[in-house]
Amino acid sequence: MDENTKKQLIQEAIEARRNAYVPYSTYPVGAALLCKSGKVYTGANIENAAFPVTVCAERVAIFKAVSEGNMDLDAIAVVTKNGGSPCGSCRQVMAEFNPELIVIIADEEGEVKQETTLKEILPGFFGPASLAK
Ligand SMILES: [Zn+2]
Repeated sequence: MDENTKKQLIQEAIEARRNAYVPYSTYPVGAALLCKSGKVYTGANIENAAFPVTVCAERVAIFKAVSEGNMDLDAIAVVTKNGGSPCGSCRQVMAEFNPELIVIIADEEGEVKQETTLKEILPGFFGPASLAK
């Protein structure tokens, strides 16, 4: 991924993070998902007084893309205060659509903390092929 695209994706995640609804954790997360078509979907975490129904920024972005017919996920930038990594649930959702997904983790200043792929951060995942007959 070229540096310009990466910087742009991180910037979109920083902007999306401003819409996080996080009265409980006060830990806003922003995500920007790039599809192979070039379209970008953003997400922010949305908490709820009934904690388990909280949804992460990454899943908001992915579900927006998929719900609009875009399953060709290419890369996702995730921005937190301190470079926090996607949770296990989000990794599982990413694995469903692209094990080669590029995952860029940055802090709120836009500094890249880690650049990896989904299969590196979720080895041995259960995916569509696991259900093969
Ligand atoms: Zn998550």
